[in-house]
Amino acid sequence: MNNEIVDITIIGGGPTGLFASFYAGMREMSVKIIDSLPQLGGQLIELYPDKYIYDVGGFPKILAKDFVANLVTQAHYSKPEILLSETALSVERNGDHFILKTDKGVHLTRTIILTAGIGAFRPRKIGLKEEVEFEEKTLHYGIKDLSLFKGKNVVVCGGGDSAVDWALMLEDIASTVTLVHRRKRFTAHETSVNQLMESTVDVKTSLNVKAIEGEDGIVKEIVLASKDGSEERVALDHLIVNYGNISSLGPLKEWGVDMDRNSIIVNSRMETNIEGIYAAGDVTTYDGKVKLIAVGLGEAPIAVNHAKAYIDPKARLQPLHSTSVFN
Ligand SMILES: Cc1cc2nc3c(=O)[nH]c(=O)nc-3n(C[C@H](O)[C@H](O)[C@H](O)COP(=O)(O)OP(=O)(O)OC[C@H]3O[C@@H](n4cnc5c(N)ncnc54)[C@H](O)[C@@H]3O)c2cc1C
Repeated sequence: MNNEIVDITIIGGGPTGLFASFYAGMREMSVKIIDSLPQLGGQLIELYPDKYIYDVGGFPKILAKDFVANLVTQAHYSKPEILLSETALSVERNGDHFILKTDKGVHLTRTIILTAGIGAFRPRKIGLKEEVEFEEKTLHYGIKDLSLFKGKNVVVCGGGDSAVDWALMLEDIASTVTLVHRRKRFTAHETSVNQLMESTVDVKTSLNVKAIEGEDGIVKEIVLASKDGSEERVALDHLIVNYGNISSLGPLKEWGVDMDRNSIIVNSRMETNIEGIYAAGDVTTYDGKVKLIAVGLGEAPIAVNHAKAYIDPKARLQPLHSTSVFN
Protein backbone atom coordinates (compact mmCIF):
# COMPACT_ATOMS: atom_id res chain seq x y z
CA MET A 1 0.00 0.00 0.00
CA ASN A 2 1.27 3.41 -0.97
CA ASN A 3 0.47 5.56 2.07
CA GLU A 4 1.28 8.92 0.57
CA ILE A 5 -1.84 10.97 -0.10
CA VAL A 6 -1.68 12.65 -3.51
CA ASP A 7 -3.69 15.72 -4.48
CA ILE A 8 -5.20 14.27 -7.64
CA THR A 9 -5.55 10.75 -8.94
CA ILE A 10 -6.40 10.70 -12.62
CA ILE A 11 -8.16 7.55 -13.72
CA GLY A 12 -7.51 7.18 -17.43
CA GLY A 13 -4.35 8.18 -19.28
CA GLY A 14 -6.01 9.17 -22.57
CA PRO A 15 -5.62 12.70 -23.97
CA THR A 16 -7.92 14.21 -21.33
CA GLY A 17 -6.13 12.55 -18.41
CA LEU A 18 -2.70 13.42 -19.79
CA PHE A 19 -3.59 17.07 -20.20
CA ALA A 20 -5.13 17.07 -16.70
CA SER A 21 -1.78 15.84 -15.41
CA PHE A 22 0.08 18.72 -17.05
CA TYR A 23 -2.44 21.19 -15.76
CA ALA A 24 -2.29 19.83 -12.21
CA GLY A 25 1.47 20.44 -12.40
CA MET A 26 0.78 24.07 -13.29
CA ARG A 27 -1.35 24.25 -10.14
CA GLU A 28 1.46 22.63 -8.13
CA MET A 29 -0.53 19.56 -7.24
CA SER A 30 0.84 16.05 -6.77
CA VAL A 31 -0.50 13.61 -9.34
CA LYS A 32 -1.02 9.91 -9.91
CA ILE A 33 -2.27 8.51 -13.24
CA ILE A 34 -3.81 5.05 -13.34
CA ASP A 35 -4.68 3.29 -16.60
CA SER A 36 -5.80 -0.24 -17.26
CA LEU A 37 -3.88 -0.35 -20.54
CA PRO A 38 -0.16 -1.15 -20.68
CA GLN A 39 0.51 2.24 -22.33
CA LEU A 40 -0.68 5.85 -22.16
CA GLY A 41 -2.80 7.47 -24.87
CA GLY A 42 -6.27 5.92 -24.47
CA GLN A 43 -8.30 5.36 -27.62
CA LEU A 44 -5.68 7.12 -29.78
CA ILE A 45 -3.00 4.53 -29.12
CA GLU A 46 -5.27 1.52 -28.65
CA LEU A 47 -7.56 2.09 -31.63
CA TYR A 48 -5.97 4.39 -34.21
CA PRO A 49 -2.28 5.22 -33.56
CA ASP A 50 -1.48 5.63 -37.26
CA LYS A 51 -4.46 7.73 -38.26
CA TYR A 52 -4.20 11.48 -38.74
CA ILE A 53 -6.15 13.85 -36.51
CA TYR A 54 -7.19 17.13 -38.12
CA ASP A 55 -9.47 18.74 -35.56
CA VAL A 56 -7.27 19.73 -32.62
CA GLY A 57 -6.44 23.40 -32.46
CA GLY A 58 -2.87 24.26 -33.44
CA PHE A 59 -2.30 20.99 -35.32
CA PRO A 60 -3.58 21.11 -38.92
CA LYS A 61 -2.69 17.42 -39.23
CA ILE A 62 -0.98 15.12 -36.74
CA LEU A 63 -0.70 11.36 -36.32
CA ALA A 64 -2.57 10.12 -33.25
CA LYS A 65 0.61 8.50 -31.87
CA ASP A 66 2.62 11.71 -32.36
CA PHE A 67 -0.09 13.74 -30.67
CA VAL A 68 0.00 11.33 -27.72
CA ALA A 69 3.80 11.54 -27.55
CA ASN A 70 3.47 15.34 -27.20
CA LEU A 71 0.79 14.97 -24.54
CA VAL A 72 2.92 12.47 -22.59
CA THR A 73 5.88 14.90 -22.63
CA GLN A 74 3.57 17.65 -21.41
CA ALA A 75 1.94 15.39 -18.77
CA HIS A 76 5.33 14.74 -17.16
CA TYR A 77 5.46 18.37 -16.07
CA SER A 78 3.60 17.40 -12.86
CA LYS A 79 6.06 14.50 -12.29
CA PRO A 80 3.12 12.13 -12.01
CA GLU A 81 3.37 8.63 -10.67
CA ILE A 82 2.15 6.57 -13.63
CA LEU A 83 0.60 3.18 -12.97
CA LEU A 84 -0.19 1.16 -16.08
CA SER A 85 -2.02 -2.15 -16.53
CA GLU A 86 -3.92 -1.25 -13.36
CA THR A 87 -7.71 -0.91 -13.19
CA ALA A 88 -9.55 1.29 -10.69
CA LEU A 89 -12.20 -0.78 -8.95
CA SER A 90 -13.77 0.99 -5.96
CA VAL A 91 -13.59 4.07 -3.81
CA GLU A 92 -14.52 5.06 -0.29
CA ARG A 93 -14.15 8.32 1.59
CA ASN A 94 -11.92 8.44 4.66
CA GLY A 95 -12.12 11.90 6.22
CA ASP A 96 -10.38 14.41 3.97
CA HIS A 97 -9.30 11.86 1.37
CA PHE A 98 -10.42 8.85 -0.62
CA ILE A 99 -9.23 5.27 -0.42
CA LEU A 100 -9.09 4.05 -3.99
CA LYS A 101 -8.84 0.34 -4.63
CA THR A 102 -7.49 -1.09 -7.87
CA ASP A 103 -6.82 -4.63 -9.05
CA LYS A 104 -3.23 -4.12 -7.90
CA GLY A 105 -3.43 -2.14 -4.69
CA VAL A 106 -4.77 0.74 -2.64
CA HIS A 107 -4.14 4.45 -3.24
CA LEU A 108 -4.88 7.49 -1.09
CA THR A 109 -5.94 10.68 -2.79
CA ARG A 110 -7.57 14.00 -1.92
CA THR A 111 -9.45 14.26 -5.21
CA ILE A 112 -10.13 12.07 -8.20
CA ILE A 113 -10.60 13.00 -11.85
CA LEU A 114 -12.34 10.34 -13.87
CA THR A 115 -11.06 10.56 -17.43
CA ALA A 116 -12.02 6.99 -18.22
CA GLY A 117 -13.31 7.62 -21.75
CA ILE A 118 -15.34 4.69 -23.00
CA GLY A 119 -13.98 2.52 -20.19
CA ALA A 120 -11.29 -0.03 -19.60
CA PHE A 121 -10.33 -2.03 -22.68
CA ARG A 122 -9.96 -5.77 -22.84
CA PRO A 123 -9.45 -7.95 -25.88
CA ARG A 124 -12.44 -9.62 -27.50
CA LYS A 125 -11.82 -13.32 -26.90
CA ILE A 126 -11.98 -16.07 -29.49
CA GLY A 127 -15.08 -17.48 -27.82
CA LEU A 128 -14.24 -21.19 -27.65
CA LYS A 129 -14.67 -23.22 -24.48
CA GLU A 130 -11.17 -24.70 -24.76
CA GLU A 131 -9.49 -21.26 -24.98
CA VAL A 132 -8.62 -21.09 -21.24
CA GLU A 133 -6.34 -24.11 -21.59
CA PHE A 134 -4.12 -22.32 -24.12
CA GLU A 135 -4.37 -18.68 -23.07
CA GLU A 136 -1.08 -16.98 -22.17
CA LYS A 137 0.79 -20.11 -23.29
CA THR A 138 0.24 -20.49 -27.04
CA LEU A 139 -2.96 -18.47 -27.51
CA HIS A 140 -2.24 -14.75 -27.44
CA TYR A 141 -4.34 -11.58 -27.66
CA GLY A 142 -1.35 -9.33 -28.25
CA ILE A 143 2.35 -9.48 -28.99
CA LYS A 144 4.67 -8.57 -26.14
CA ASP A 145 7.83 -10.33 -27.26
CA LEU A 146 8.36 -11.08 -30.94
CA SER A 147 11.21 -13.51 -30.21
CA LEU A 148 8.66 -16.00 -28.83
CA PHE A 149 7.57 -16.66 -32.42
CA LYS A 150 11.05 -17.11 -33.95
CA GLY A 151 11.07 -20.11 -36.26
CA LYS A 152 7.51 -21.10 -35.29
CA ASN A 153 4.35 -21.73 -37.27
CA VAL A 154 2.05 -18.87 -36.38
CA VAL A 155 -1.59 -18.24 -37.21
CA VAL A 156 -2.95 -14.70 -36.80
CA CYS A 157 -6.74 -14.18 -36.72
CA GLY A 158 -8.49 -10.94 -37.62
CA GLY A 159 -8.93 -8.51 -40.48
CA GLY A 160 -8.14 -5.13 -38.96
CA ASP A 161 -4.97 -3.04 -38.88
CA SER A 162 -3.39 -4.81 -35.91
CA ALA A 163 -3.95 -8.32 -37.29
CA VAL A 164 -2.51 -7.43 -40.70
CA ASP A 165 0.41 -5.47 -39.17
CA TRP A 166 1.24 -8.38 -36.86
CA ALA A 167 1.14 -10.89 -39.73
CA LEU A 168 3.52 -8.70 -41.75
CA MET A 169 5.77 -8.11 -38.75
CA LEU A 170 6.04 -11.86 -38.14
CA GLU A 171 6.81 -12.69 -41.76
CA ASP A 172 10.59 -12.35 -41.27
CA ILE A 173 10.62 -13.91 -37.81
CA ALA A 174 8.30 -16.92 -37.87
CA SER A 175 8.80 -20.04 -39.95
CA THR A 176 5.31 -19.70 -41.48
CA VAL A 177 2.57 -17.13 -41.00
CA THR A 178 -1.10 -17.75 -41.82
CA LEU A 179 -3.70 -15.01 -41.56
CA VAL A 180 -7.27 -16.16 -41.01
CA HIS A 181 -10.11 -13.68 -41.46
CA ARG A 182 -13.78 -14.49 -41.08
CA ARG A 183 -14.81 -12.08 -43.84
CA LYS A 184 -13.67 -11.63 -47.42
CA ARG A 185 -12.83 -7.95 -47.10
CA PHE A 186 -10.24 -6.56 -44.69
CA THR A 187 -10.87 -3.45 -42.62
CA ALA A 188 -7.13 -2.78 -42.38
CA HIS A 189 -5.54 0.11 -44.25
CA GLU A 190 -5.48 -0.48 -48.01
CA THR A 191 -1.67 -0.12 -48.21
CA SER A 192 -1.16 -2.82 -45.54
CA VAL A 193 -3.64 -5.14 -47.26
CA ASN A 194 -1.79 -4.71 -50.58
CA GLN A 195 1.49 -5.41 -48.79
CA LEU A 196 -0.09 -8.51 -47.24
CA MET A 197 -1.26 -9.84 -50.58
CA GLU A 198 2.27 -9.48 -51.95
CA SER A 199 3.86 -11.12 -48.90
CA THR A 200 4.55 -14.78 -48.13
CA VAL A 201 1.76 -14.78 -45.53
CA ASP A 202 -0.80 -17.48 -46.33
CA VAL A 203 -4.10 -15.56 -46.36
CA LYS A 204 -7.31 -17.51 -45.68
CA THR A 205 -10.60 -15.59 -45.79
CA SER A 206 -14.27 -16.37 -45.08
CA LEU A 207 -13.22 -18.84 -42.41
CA ASN A 208 -13.92 -19.05 -38.69
CA VAL A 209 -11.85 -20.80 -36.03
CA LYS A 210 -14.16 -23.60 -34.92
CA ALA A 211 -11.85 -25.46 -32.55
CA ILE A 212 -8.38 -25.41 -31.07
CA GLU A 213 -6.68 -28.76 -30.54
CA GLY A 214 -3.59 -29.57 -28.50
CA GLU A 215 -2.60 -30.52 -24.97
CA ASP A 216 -1.02 -29.04 -21.85
CA GLY A 217 -1.55 -25.53 -23.20
CA ILE A 218 0.34 -26.28 -26.43
CA VAL A 219 -1.74 -25.76 -29.57
CA LYS A 220 -1.20 -28.30 -32.34
CA GLU A 221 -3.98 -27.69 -34.85
CA ILE A 222 -6.90 -25.38 -35.42
CA VAL A 223 -10.05 -26.34 -37.24
CA LEU A 224 -11.35 -23.69 -39.64
CA ALA A 225 -14.93 -23.76 -40.86
CA SER A 226 -16.56 -21.95 -43.75
CA LYS A 227 -20.22 -20.92 -43.99
CA ASP A 228 -21.00 -23.83 -46.32
CA GLY A 229 -19.89 -26.25 -43.58
CA SER A 230 -16.59 -27.35 -45.13
CA GLU A 231 -13.61 -27.57 -42.77
CA GLU A 232 -9.85 -27.41 -42.99
CA ARG A 233 -7.09 -27.97 -40.47
CA VAL A 234 -3.98 -25.89 -39.97
CA ALA A 235 -1.00 -27.09 -37.92
CA LEU A 236 0.57 -24.39 -35.74
CA ASP A 237 2.70 -23.55 -32.71
CA HIS A 238 1.08 -20.24 -31.76
CA LEU A 239 -2.31 -18.63 -32.32
CA ILE A 240 -2.57 -14.84 -32.14
CA VAL A 241 -6.09 -13.40 -32.07
CA ASN A 242 -6.98 -9.81 -32.82
CA TYR A 243 -10.75 -9.42 -32.82
CA GLY A 244 -10.57 -5.89 -31.44
CA ASN A 245 -11.36 -4.66 -27.95
CA ILE A 246 -14.39 -4.45 -25.73
CA SER A 247 -14.55 -1.42 -23.46
CA SER A 248 -16.64 -1.07 -20.38
CA LEU A 249 -16.86 1.38 -17.50
CA GLY A 250 -17.50 -1.74 -15.39
CA PRO A 251 -16.59 -1.07 -11.76
CA LEU A 252 -16.82 2.73 -12.08
CA LYS A 253 -20.58 2.33 -12.49
CA GLU A 254 -20.75 1.06 -8.89
CA TRP A 255 -19.15 4.16 -7.38
CA GLY A 256 -22.42 5.98 -6.83
CA VAL A 257 -21.68 8.72 -9.35
CA ASP A 258 -24.81 9.83 -11.19
CA MET A 259 -24.84 8.43 -14.68
CA ASP A 260 -26.82 8.73 -17.86
CA ARG A 261 -26.37 5.40 -19.60
CA ASN A 262 -22.57 5.01 -19.95
CA SER A 263 -21.66 8.61 -19.19
CA ILE A 264 -21.01 10.37 -15.90
CA ILE A 265 -23.16 13.43 -15.28
CA VAL A 266 -21.13 16.53 -14.41
CA ASN A 267 -21.95 20.18 -13.85
CA SER A 268 -20.14 23.14 -15.42
CA ARG A 269 -17.31 22.70 -12.87
CA MET A 270 -16.82 19.09 -14.01
CA GLU A 271 -17.99 18.00 -10.56
CA THR A 272 -19.81 14.71 -10.18
CA ASN A 273 -22.46 14.31 -7.48
CA ILE A 274 -19.68 13.06 -5.12
CA GLU A 275 -17.72 15.93 -3.58
CA GLY A 276 -14.05 15.68 -4.53
CA ILE A 277 -14.68 13.45 -7.54
CA TYR A 278 -14.53 15.17 -10.92
CA ALA A 279 -14.84 13.84 -14.45
CA ALA A 280 -13.75 15.09 -17.87
CA GLY A 281 -13.51 13.97 -21.47
CA ASP A 282 -15.48 11.29 -23.28
CA VAL A 283 -16.74 9.74 -20.05
CA THR A 284 -18.84 12.81 -19.17
CA THR A 285 -22.22 14.09 -20.19
CA TYR A 286 -24.12 17.35 -19.72
CA ASP A 287 -26.50 19.37 -21.80
CA GLY A 288 -24.79 20.05 -25.12
CA LYS A 289 -21.88 17.64 -24.62
CA VAL A 290 -19.77 16.78 -27.66
CA LYS A 291 -17.26 13.92 -27.44
CA LEU A 292 -14.07 15.13 -29.07
CA ILE A 293 -10.41 15.31 -28.08
CA ALA A 294 -10.54 19.12 -28.19
CA VAL A 295 -13.48 19.15 -25.78
CA GLY A 296 -11.74 16.83 -23.28
CA LEU A 297 -8.65 19.04 -23.43
CA GLY A 298 -10.84 22.00 -22.46
CA GLU A 299 -12.65 20.16 -19.68
CA ALA A 300 -9.44 18.92 -18.03
CA PRO A 301 -8.30 22.39 -16.81
CA ILE A 302 -11.82 23.14 -15.55
CA ALA A 303 -11.79 19.94 -13.46
CA VAL A 304 -8.24 20.52 -12.19
CA ASN A 305 -8.80 24.16 -11.22
CA HIS A 306 -11.93 23.26 -9.28
CA ALA A 307 -10.15 20.34 -7.62
CA LYS A 308 -7.39 22.77 -6.59
CA ALA A 309 -9.91 25.18 -5.07
CA TYR A 310 -11.66 22.25 -3.34
CA ILE A 311 -8.43 21.11 -1.64
CA ASP A 312 -7.29 24.65 -0.86
CA PRO A 313 -10.23 27.08 -0.71
CA LYS A 314 -7.75 29.99 -0.54
CA ALA A 315 -6.22 29.06 -3.91
CA ARG A 316 -7.22 31.04 -6.97
CA LEU A 317 -9.80 29.33 -9.13
CA GLN A 318 -8.80 31.33 -12.18
CA PRO A 319 -5.21 30.25 -12.76
CA LEU A 320 -2.31 32.34 -13.93
CA HIS A 321 -1.71 32.00 -17.65
CA SER A 322 1.04 29.59 -18.65
CA THR A 323 2.85 32.55 -20.20
CA SER A 324 3.16 33.95 -16.67
CA VAL A 325 3.90 30.65 -14.92
CA PHE A 326 6.77 29.68 -17.22
CA ASN A 327 8.35 33.07 -17.85
C1 LIG B 1 -11.27 5.36 -34.79
C2 LIG B 1 -11.46 6.64 -34.00
C3 LIG B 1 -11.09 7.85 -34.56
C4 LIG B 1 -11.28 9.03 -33.86
N1 LIG B 1 -10.91 10.22 -34.45
C5 LIG B 1 -11.05 11.37 -33.75
C6 LIG B 1 -10.68 12.64 -34.34
O1 LIG B 1 -10.25 12.70 -35.49
N2 LIG B 1 -10.86 13.76 -33.59
C7 LIG B 1 -11.37 13.75 -32.30
O2 LIG B 1 -11.49 14.80 -31.69
N3 LIG B 1 -11.74 12.56 -31.74
C8 LIG B 1 -11.60 11.39 -32.43
N4 LIG B 1 -11.99 10.21 -31.85
C9 LIG B 1 -12.52 10.26 -30.47
C10 LIG B 1 -11.37 10.45 -29.46
O3 LIG B 1 -10.46 9.37 -29.58
C11 LIG B 1 -11.93 10.55 -28.04
O4 LIG B 1 -12.75 11.70 -27.99
C12 LIG B 1 -10.77 10.68 -27.04
O5 LIG B 1 -9.95 9.53 -27.05
C13 LIG B 1 -11.33 10.87 -25.63
O6 LIG B 1 -10.24 10.98 -24.77
P1 LIG B 1 -10.38 10.60 -23.22
O7 LIG B 1 -9.02 10.85 -22.63
O8 LIG B 1 -11.54 11.32 -22.65
O9 LIG B 1 -10.72 9.04 -23.18
P2 LIG B 1 -9.96 7.77 -23.79
O10 LIG B 1 -9.09 8.12 -24.93
O11 LIG B 1 -11.04 6.75 -24.01
O12 LIG B 1 -9.04 7.28 -22.61
C14 LIG B 1 -9.61 6.73 -21.44
C15 LIG B 1 -8.59 5.87 -20.72
O13 LIG B 1 -9.15 5.46 -19.47
C16 LIG B 1 -8.72 4.15 -19.18
N5 LIG B 1 -9.67 3.56 -18.22
C17 LIG B 1 -11.00 3.41 -18.36
N6 LIG B 1 -11.53 2.86 -17.25
C18 LIG B 1 -10.50 2.64 -16.39
C19 LIG B 1 -10.40 2.11 -15.09
N7 LIG B 1 -11.47 1.66 -14.40
N8 LIG B 1 -9.18 2.03 -14.51
C20 LIG B 1 -8.07 2.47 -15.17
N9 LIG B 1 -8.12 3.01 -16.42
C21 LIG B 1 -9.31 3.10 -17.00
C22 LIG B 1 -8.76 3.46 -20.55
O14 LIG B 1 -7.89 2.34 -20.56
C23 LIG B 1 -8.26 4.58 -21.48
O15 LIG B 1 -6.86 4.52 -21.68
C24 LIG B 1 -11.84 9.02 -32.54
C25 LIG B 1 -12.18 7.79 -31.96
C26 LIG B 1 -12.01 6.61 -32.68
C27 LIG B 1 -12.41 5.30 -32.05
